[in-house]
Amino acid sequence: MDTNNPKICINQCNFGRGVFAKKNIIRGDVILAFAGRIITLEEALRKGEKESNPLQINTTEYIDIEEPGVIVNHSCNPNAGIMNNRVLVALTDIYKDEEILYDYSTTMSENSWTMNCECSSSNCRKIIKDFHYLPTNIKEKYLQLGIVQTFIVREHNEKVKGVYTLKSEMKH
Ligand SMILES: [Zn+2]
Repeated sequence: MDTNNPKICINQCNFGRGVFAKKNIIRGDVILAFAGRIITLEEALRKGEKESNPLQINTTEYIDIEEPGVIVNHSCNPNAGIMNNRVLVALTDIYKDEEILYDYSTTMSENSWTMNCECSSSNCRKIIKDFHYLPTNIKEKYLQLGIVQTFIVREHNEKVKGVYTLKSEMKH
C-alpha cells in the first residue's frame, strides 16, 4: 500500500472505507495513480462480488487495483476524475477531510455490471451503468474534462460517427 502519499488517508465513511484528503488539494492536482496487475475480462468476472474493484482500461483489459486506489468510492457528482486511464486528478479544490470520489461510469463499458448508488447528490442516477448509458450532457461534460477512459472515448466517437453515417445515408 502506498502509505507515503502525503495527500490522502483512508477512513470510514457511509460506504465503508473511503479515501479522504489529508490536506487541501488544488483543482488539477494529481491525487494518486491506480496501480496493480493487468488482468483479463475473464479474471475480472471470476472475482464475482468483488468485480467492482478492477479498473477497466480497455475492452477486455483491467487493472486489478490495489490500495489506496481500490478504496476510492463513486459519486454521481465527483470531485475527482481519471486521466490517462490511471491517474486520479482533482476536478475541484478539495478541502482537508473531504472524501475523494470519482464517477465509476467514466471507466465502464462492459455491459455486465451495474451498481445501486446512494451518493445523495442532487443528480444521483441511482443505478450506475456503463458510460454509454449516461445522459448526453453528462457524457459531454466528462469528455470535455478528459476524464473518460481512452478506449471508451474511442467507442463513443465510433458510435457518434455511426449515427451521422446512418443519418446521411437516410437522406439519400
Ligand atoms: Zn449517485
